[in-house]
Amino acid sequence: MAKDLYLAGEWRQGRGPVAQSIFPADGTVNAEFSTASVDDVNEAIEQADLAWRSSAWCESLPHQRAQVLYKVADIITERAEALSQLQTRDNGKPHAETMALVMSAAATARYVAAACETMDGELTSQRAADFMTMSVYEPVGVVAAITPWNSPIASEVQKLAPALAGGNAVILKPAQETSLIALELARIFEEAGLPKGLLSVLPGSGSVVGDAIVNHPLVRKISFTGGTTTGRRLAHIAAERLITTSLELGGKSPTIVLADADLDLAVKGVVYGIFSSAGQACIAGSRLFVAEEIYQEFMDKLVAATKGLRIGHPEKPGMHLGSLINEKHLNSVDGYVQLAKSEGGTVVCGGERMVEGEHAQGCFYLPTIITGLNNTARVCQEEIFGPVLVVMPFADEAALLAEANDSIYGLAAGIWTENYRKAMQLARALEVGTVWINTYKKFSISTPFGGFKESGIGREKGRLGILSYMQQKSIYLGLNETPNTWCD
Ligand code: NAP
Repeated sequence: MAKDLYLAGEWRQGRGPVAQSIFPADGTVNAEFSTASVDDVNEAIEQADLAWRSSAWCESLPHQRAQVLYKVADIITERAEALSQLQTRDNGKPHAETMALVMSAAATARYVAAACETMDGELTSQRAADFMTMSVYEPVGVVAAITPWNSPIASEVQKLAPALAGGNAVILKPAQETSLIALELARIFEEAGLPKGLLSVLPGSGSVVGDAIVNHPLVRKISFTGGTTTGRRLAHIAAERLITTSLELGGKSPTIVLADADLDLAVKGVVYGIFSSAGQACIAGSRLFVAEEIYQEFMDKLVAATKGLRIGHPEKPGMHLGSLINEKHLNSVDGYVQLAKSEGGTVVCGGERMVEGEHAQGCFYLPTIITGLNNTARVCQEEIFGPVLVVMPFADEAALLAEANDSIYGLAAGIWTENYRKAMQLARALEVGTVWINTYKKFSISTPFGGFKESGIGREKGRLGILSYMQQKSIYLGLNETPNTWCD
């Protein structure tokens, strides 16, 4: 397991403080690793700038870049078990979930490789007799990729693969909690044949290492996934520097259950939508609106299904929820539950830390359902990023839509109904980047993903995801010797 940082193709001791990876399920130390200093950051970025300008990578044929990405996908697949275990140790998610993230990372690398081979420029303005024009796409240069801890390998490959396919160099700063998996990715890209200098993985804190990266004059794009507060801060820096950003930020996603929904299917979808990843997902369906006519029947089924979830050691097979990422985050989640109570909410299940037996040493929190509040409550407006669902009945569909949209966030939404015409009307009216109808948290790598409102700017995935790491250039080619008009 890599413990040094990866600086422009070299493994070396970082000059920043030593950090620890801690297994949140029992508090044991997985490993110590070195972090980057500001000098390391500067060196990596200078090397990255040299590498994308001078290495053959940027000028190579798309299928040559694709070969490296196919190899990355193959290595990730071969090492899936070890990578999954490493992520589980880093962030406490159950093995089945981290395995899904690993397979998603491999699929992303494969998709981007195939898309990269088939990307075209365009000939434009075909009608002009004396010149022709073309539209071509070029790398932006050095890209800063900054990621959170909740789905590390998937969100990191989602940035590295398209940025590298586009001919850029990347400086990746992973979340401190999940640095080990990011370092393993560096090892994989190196083994797959990525030329030296194009990738650096620099663990360290956001306030020192992240800040030094995004403020460096040679960085030309910030690709960030994380909280809205940090995203806003990075957007200010990018605006000042006039560089582009992709910002994948927080959410407070509404799920709507209409009276004609298949209730058993909807219950399963709602439970998965909020409680998988122990609610530590940007797209967690954390606000639930249920039609008044079916409210009690639905709640009975929902509470029963929630109480049936298995919460435990994430390395043990069959667990639905593992531990939260750390003590500080658990206290924040619990603080929101206490706040809901003080605002008049009723905790109908969960609402506390698990402290007995195998749960005693880790950061385990019971899946929690709160009722009795309306959409203006703070727990309905602020992202909790934990296993906490607030449920509200609704009578009037027009008022429901206004409430569902009453949020600073606009990442995702879920709709459960057998009436597809109504579902489509709601889907078009919801102010969010992704809508799931009669399903939730399904992902396709070819389908763009991103947020409305304060959930983000830009889109990842799909062919647009590669183009977002490139800049468009127009080229005019004169076809005859006619002088320009002014010279006549
Ligand atoms: P965060 O606190 O915003 O941190 C995200 C990353 O930014 C970490 O690597 C962090 O470093 C770094 N960072 C912090 N301050 C920085 C600064 N001043 N300059 C540069 N980098 C800085 O978010 P988090 O708590 O890790 O993750 C949870 C959030 O991510 C939630 O809001 C969730 O909704 C969002 N998220 C969004 C998506 C999406 O696709 N929309 C996906 C996953 C998660 P440290 O190592 O110091 O923390």
